[in-house]
Amino acid sequence: MGTGVVVVTGGSRGIGAAVCRLAAADGYDVVVNYTADRAAAERVVAGIAESGGRAVAAGADVSDEAAVERLFELAGERGPLAGVVSNAGITGNTPGRLDEQRVEVVRRVLDVNVTGVFLCARAAVRRMSTRYGGRGGSIVHVSSVAARRGGPGEWVHYAASKAAVEAMTVGLAQEVGGEGIRVNAVSPGLVDTDLHVSAGLPDRLRRLAPLTPMGRAGRPEEIAEGIVWLLGPAASYVTGSVLTISGGR
Ligand code: NAP
Repeated sequence: MGTGVVVVTGGSRGIGAAVCRLAAADGYDVVVNYTADRAAAERVVAGIAESGGRAVAAGADVSDEAAVERLFELAGERGPLAGVVSNAGITGNTPGRLDEQRVEVVRRVLDVNVTGVFLCARAAVRRMSTRYGGRGGSIVHVSSVAARRGGPGEWVHYAASKAAVEAMTVGLAQEVGGEGIRVNAVSPGLVDTDLHVSAGLPDRLRRLAPLTPMGRAGRPEEIAEGIVWLLGPAASYVTGSVLTISGGR
């Protein structure tokens, strides 16, 4: 059972939306972050409210420092911050070999996936760490199996951004381990969300799902289970870990 406020970045769709629903069912007050699709975020909030939970939608581009500060101020107005799930992530919309990528796309992917995770982690530590007078808390980053597979032919730059997220997870966990904060990551495999179509690969799920050891893609809810476990007190001695949820991929 969770208590306090949890910020979920990219909570309006896919894995993030499943995390919002599960975290709210577990008792957290959830800040459902989005950047473009307000209606989708409001639908997640309405679903949580119908089930008796507490949530609010909050727009912020995670790569924008001032917007992230406002996001965490809003969270703080609702109650003590218990955690953050840094789930917002993009692949860029130009899948292909590294030598075919445009630098603008690579810079944007790094800005959202790496700088965004950094900004949210920093904002959360400044509010939750006992060093700053906080009560402790939990940070969960969403990585990808691409961090070890490398994303060849599709998105090597995205894979590199996720490897950076895992390094930040391990390093930050050691910095704040004695300050009441646990920092972990979940590394999903192939998951049935909009991401593949948004990335410009509409048949990716159909093509790759049969090639996974379990013969299917994961559901967002199956990834959310691991994220919400890491977020909460049941994982009280887990920090600096990367939990793979990938059906064996
Ligand atoms: P998705 O369905 O494409 O949803 C992405 C979410 O992120 C949306 O809520 C979107 O909000 C939000 N978002 C995008 N850019 C943002 C920004 N700059 N600031 C704030 N929010 C932003 O993605 P998903 O498949 O659920 O993926 C979630 C995470 O899991 C990502 O980090 C992804 O890399 C990782 N992952 C996914 C898979 C997979 O197979 N799906 C596998 C491994 C890892 P708007 O709609 O408002 O833009």
